[in-house]
Amino acid sequence: MNTLSRSELMWGLQCPLRLWKAKQAPRMPHALDPHSPAGQIHVHARRMFPDGVRVPQTLPWEEALRQSAQAMAHAPVVFRPAIEFEGLRIRPDLLLRMPTGGWRLGRVKATTKLRPIHLQELAIEHFVMTQAGLAPVEVGVLCINRRYRADKAEPLLRFVDRTEKVAQLAASLHAELSPLRSIPLQEAPPKELTGRRCLWPRRCPYLRDCQPEIPVAQPTGDSPQARLFRRAMEHGRLCVLPALKQKLEHDGPTSYLDFEAVAPAIPTLPGLKPFTTLPVQFSVHHKQTDGTLHSDAYLHRDSTDPRPPLAAALLEALEGDSPIYVWGEFEGKVISKLASACAELDAPLRALHKRIVDLQSLARAYAYHPAFGGSWSIKRVLPALVPGQDYGDLSVNDGAQAVLVWTRMQHPDTPPDQAQILAEELLAYCGMDTLALIHIRDALLHRARLGAETWE
Ligand code: SF4
Repeated sequence: MNTLSRSELMWGLQCPLRLWKAKQAPRMPHALDPHSPAGQIHVHARRMFPDGVRVPQTLPWEEALRQSAQAMAHAPVVFRPAIEFEGLRIRPDLLLRMPTGGWRLGRVKATTKLRPIHLQELAIEHFVMTQAGLAPVEVGVLCINRRYRADKAEPLLRFVDRTEKVAQLAASLHAELSPLRSIPLQEAPPKELTGRRCLWPRRCPYLRDCQPEIPVAQPTGDSPQARLFRRAMEHGRLCVLPALKQKLEHDGPTSYLDFEAVAPAIPTLPGLKPFTTLPVQFSVHHKQTDGTLHSDAYLHRDSTDPRPPLAAALLEALEGDSPIYVWGEFEGKVISKLASACAELDAPLRALHKRIVDLQSLARAYAYHPAFGGSWSIKRVLPALVPGQDYGDLSVNDGAQAVLVWTRMQHPDTPPDQAQILAEELLAYCGMDTLALIHIRDALLHRARLGAETWE
């Protein structure tokens, strides 16, 4: 039988081609990473209902159906039950038996703010449950209470009721879902055009297949940046404006800084809100006047407050008056927050601000290379300016992955030898970011010294 899961129905509503492509190479169901924010919130939700029964996510479907029917016959709460109606399959996060009979249907979300996509997910589950003769009595989202603090008597999760809205959405789904059933059976892919739908409600993973060349928003008019852009595209090389040379020239040593931070969904430090940004790591590279490099790094390895030791190590690493190159505004904001959190280091931390030079905003204002492709991400700019340099070989190669790896590294259940391997991966990743900054500044300065673009 042709079957469709809730995720597949969501994809089909986004774009029939996305559903068709996904069905060509179906993925195995996977368990949530317990170190991810979603994984942590699901664990917490299960602890709220200790007499709840959980149907394992990775069971074969028929077995999941059997165990779900058993659980729904007696349990007050069932996590991830399998429910099916004519090939439409759902695994709701939570069913809670109501005192008056029937079920409360809930999704569990690591968020403080509901989004339309959460209601759409619930509407599909409401629709399937209703068709299967299990119409839920209440519907909503168990999400993070923004007033939660580790040191206050506020619950971490709160139930936000959306029964009426979800019922309205579900009522209109019949006509929309029916045509999706036949899409996976089609031999040829549906013809669909790319557009806003490719990015909403979630970015489609097939965007590069459907549109290998993402059109670059071309600056219009006669501004220096617009002329620079056109010149770079015409010559197929890096072009820079004259002012860049003076902005980057510096006779003495230079420093390069990058932070990695986490934003725990469940804060454990007193006074912190859910998703408060906490820097846990930095890398600093120094380049001496003779071109020699050396580096400093700090990695916080446990769940204590990382800010005081990290701030002290940062001030030591950045002693002196060298300019501090960073990529974007994040590092400056982290330093401000560190200063607020570490009152005794407030003045020296704020003094670092005067030394910060944002290479990303300089590149945006004074440089363009066709290979940037309209992106100012360091991972796009680095290989464009320094061919052969990228993050490809590293085990950790993006910020989101670094957050997960750090969370796993400092967890008390992680064996010390494994934690050490993860620590080394994190140090390598953060160090790569600051090395990238050196390469980017050198490449921009080299081009600026060769001669910038002028228009008379
Ligand atoms: S990239 Fe856009 S057009 Fe292509 S499958 Fe995804 S949503 Fe559809």
